[in-house]
Amino acid sequence: MAGLNIVVAASEVVGFAKTGGLADVAGALPQALAARGHRVTVIMPYYRTVRTGKNPPARTDHVIAVPVGSRKLACRLYGGTLPGSTVPVLFVDAPEYFDRDEPALGRGLYQQTMSGGYKSDYPDNAERYTFFCRAVVEAVAALGAAPDVIHANDWQTGLVPAFVKELLRSRPGFATVRTVFTIHNIAYQGMFGPDVMRLTGLPGWLFTPPLLEYHGHLNFMKAGIVFADAVNTVSPTYSREIQTAEFGCGLEGLLRANQHKLSGIVNGVDYALWNPATDALLPVRYDAETVFEQKPKCKAELQRRLGLPVDASRPVLGMVARLVIQKGVDLVLSASPGFLDLGCQIVFLGEGDPEYHNELQQFKARYPQQVGLYLGFDESLAHLVEAGSDLFLMPSRYEPCGLNQLYSLKYGTPPVVHMTGGLADTVVNATQESIDAGTGTGFGFGEYTAHALYETVKWALHLSRDRPAAFGEVVTTAMRQDWSWARSAADYEGLYRRVML
Ligand code: ADP
Repeated sequence: MAGLNIVVAASEVVGFAKTGGLADVAGALPQALAARGHRVTVIMPYYRTVRTGKNPPARTDHVIAVPVGSRKLACRLYGGTLPGSTVPVLFVDAPEYFDRDEPALGRGLYQQTMSGGYKSDYPDNAERYTFFCRAVVEAVAALGAAPDVIHANDWQTGLVPAFVKELLRSRPGFATVRTVFTIHNIAYQGMFGPDVMRLTGLPGWLFTPPLLEYHGHLNFMKAGIVFADAVNTVSPTYSREIQTAEFGCGLEGLLRANQHKLSGIVNGVDYALWNPATDALLPVRYDAETVFEQKPKCKAELQRRLGLPVDASRPVLGMVARLVIQKGVDLVLSASPGFLDLGCQIVFLGEGDPEYHNELQQFKARYPQQVGLYLGFDESLAHLVEAGSDLFLMPSRYEPCGLNQLYSLKYGTPPVVHMTGGLADTVVNATQESIDAGTGTGFGFGEYTAHALYETVKWALHLSRDRPAAFGEVVTTAMRQDWSWARSAADYEGLYRRVML
């Protein structure tokens, strides 16, 4: 079958700018698609950190005219490639929107630091990303060859499908361009006042409740859902959950109405970065054959690095997460005294809401010998927590896909998860039955309570202490799972081909 011509539009791409999983997807999926023989181009903003980063892109001869409200901006395109690959990336240069003095790692892409250290959304985010959406369409038009599919991601590119439908398809040669919109997290919708409509240049009559209007606001994510030819989330379970009031963040009705074009595809893992057999950030490397001999060395190094007593007999529970309500930090904190009574050490790596920082610091101060804490973003420590812990805690309230549980499977550190979203789709709960069948890969609970989390950890520790062979089987079964991008890319290809029919 002939390869497709695909444009991936994203506000962050790993290697250039990253706040979360979206950047990983935007960096890895295009490479996996290219490996399947497709022509893929990634388009993202030319942030300051791109210009000053390790691989600054080259100036191209393309200058595009991008209307924003009553203005028209002339923007140069810069060209580079995804790190370690030949997949082209186009960067849209608009200094007034993207050349800003905030780090493009962590929340600086969308937020500024206020006096007192607080982060607050940039007041012109609506204009920045209205501009970017329009620029994507103008860049595609300027390049000439119409892509088969433009793949937009999250609210920052939510207007792309509307621009394609209302503006691009009427231009000669572009009538057949299709759009796919991926929801990475429905909680961040990009909701702005009605005056933003004027900035978009879209016809005013589109601002009605069945189309762009959402309770008097312009909601970028709603726009993506309404106008895209297909919508997907990053796991099948999450695609069902967001059709309910509990998870839909107000868009559940719209999603139910668009069920016919909604599906779920689990993200992949970049095993070039996350594989204990090759991971240079670990003190030793291991695979499913050597895990029981080598992993204790990683555990000792983790205990040392976080100033805990180096003690092989104490189970280490590890957690790496943005410290926000989504990730279930509250549940872990409630259950933690019980974990300490079970003889555990607990290690936390994360940054986020100040109240969690405070609570964790107090917890650490109370139990300095049992609690390891690093508040901040540290890539190498994240790898060590994955490798050195005995169990990985990921009790997310909701989880569109989740990457950390996939890493922990690979690192032989069974994840303990709330069975929601992508966690339910990727972790097989090690019950007696699944242990007998040899399919268990982790530990899950259904009811979102500290008690359920505690009981699940207790069961896992019972297995590891009293039935080490059964626990070992869970570890090695988890390590042999394949959650690579090759699998996800095949599913995305299927989705693209369906929207082209
Ligand atoms: P989300 O995208 O919702 O934050 P995921 O589990 O999908 O959650 O992905 C989180 C990614 O960010 C993982 O690669 C994880 O290792 C990384 N990460 C999160 N917090 C930190 C931190 N404090 N230090 C280093 N890496 C982190």
